[in-house]
Amino acid sequence: MDPADRIGRDGEAFEHAKVVLERGRIGIGALAIGLGRASLDVAVAYAKDRRAFGKPIGEFEMIQWRLARARTELDAARLLVHRAAALADAGVRFTDAASKAKLYASEAATRAADSSLQVLGGYGYLSDFPIERNLRDVRLMEIGEGTSEVQRIVIARELLRLD
Ligand SMILES: Cc1cc2nc3c(=O)[nH]c(=O)nc-3n(C[C@H](O)[C@H](O)[C@H](O)COP(=O)(O)OP(=O)(O)OC[C@H]3O[C@@H](n4cnc5c(N)ncnc54)[C@H](O)[C@@H]3O)c2cc1C
Repeated sequence: MDPADRIGRDGEAFEHAKVVLERGRIGIGALAIGLGRASLDVAVAYAKDRRAFGKPIGEFEMIQWRLARARTELDAARLLVHRAAALADAGVRFTDAASKAKLYASEAATRAADSSLQVLGGYGYLSDFPIERNLRDVRLMEIGEGTSEVQRIVIARELLRLD
């Protein structure tokens, strides 16, 4: 290898890789929120349109509970992602913020897609609507760029300063 092609110094590679991963985690968080929101939009429209027992299913409290929880958690996830992105843009350390954003957004978006699927009943499970695919796609956000378990390890390490 030509030494001129080397990026960084000996022993620094893992630190560089971690920076790439940390930035990637913010992107995965944003991607998860998009999949959750796309699913929820379909569920809200369906809840207004589908009638059961003489009224739109959106009037049933258990449907409203699902929609309200999903929207609240997705909004909270968005704030965590924005915070991590703002810290990264400011050039300050964002390891902890990126892990929290990725962990919370990916799990909240999976819950949102799952609840949205349930609001559609049997149709939610069919490919006539996009939610079954969103649910499969969003599930990957809990695995790629470091699993939820890895994010919890990073967050706990920052909290406890074990190394
Ligand atoms: C569709 C898809 C696309 C992908 N794209 C990419 C890509 O573009 N680039 C890339 O680099 N990778 C990619 N990956 C790989 C992905 O990053 C890995 O699957 C992920 O990091 C988990 O690694 P693993 O599959 O080897 O699981 P393992 O490391 O075998 O882990 C298995 C389980 O054990 C848990 N576990 C492992 N260690 C611990 C521990 N210390 N404490 C607690 N639990 C632990 C994990 O959280 C997980 O639940 C992709 C994966 C998929 C499915």
